[in-house]
Amino acid sequence: MLFTPEYLFSSVAAITPAFLAQRGIAALVLDVDNTLTAHGSQELPAEVAGWLEAMRAAGVGLMIASNNSEERVAPFAARLGLDFVAGSAKPLPGGLARAQKKFGVEKARMAIVGDQLFTDRLAGALYGIPALVVTPRAPDTHRGILFKRRLEQPFLRRYYKKGGKLL
Ligand SMILES: [Mg+2]
Repeated sequence: MLFTPEYLFSSVAAITPAFLAQRGIAALVLDVDNTLTAHGSQELPAEVAGWLEAMRAAGVGLMIASNNSEERVAPFAARLGLDFVAGSAKPLPGGLARAQKKFGVEKARMAIVGDQLFTDRLAGALYGIPALVVTPRAPDTHRGILFKRRLEQPFLRRYYKKGGKLL
């Protein structure tokens, strides 16, 4: 329940303003590694840049919350022109609480976007907001993450078994 995705997207680029508007979502808290770019990369993929523009044009609030270090997150966030929380310790709710304060919106209008079920998805569940789970942008190489990916499999299977589609 806390780990099975509610929504699973092929990429952030598949999250549309219409999808958010239908659910009353006005602000997104964004993970970085394997959500907006490859793990540890400062590169901004063109499709992600275009997606961020579309979200801004639709008036969607955007902010970064990453468990990674400030040295990793700050230059990337600056490039995107976004506020950020580094060392967010997801699934703990601190980063989401800070984001909500900055957005100045009710919880009911927020969602978290990320690629990991045990950090991003669980953070959304614990904070009480939906998680828009995305497929990792690049193959994982970190041993700890590879291990977590194996543990994620039953919950991904459950999403599809319940009739979930790759959005
Ligand atoms: Mg990630």
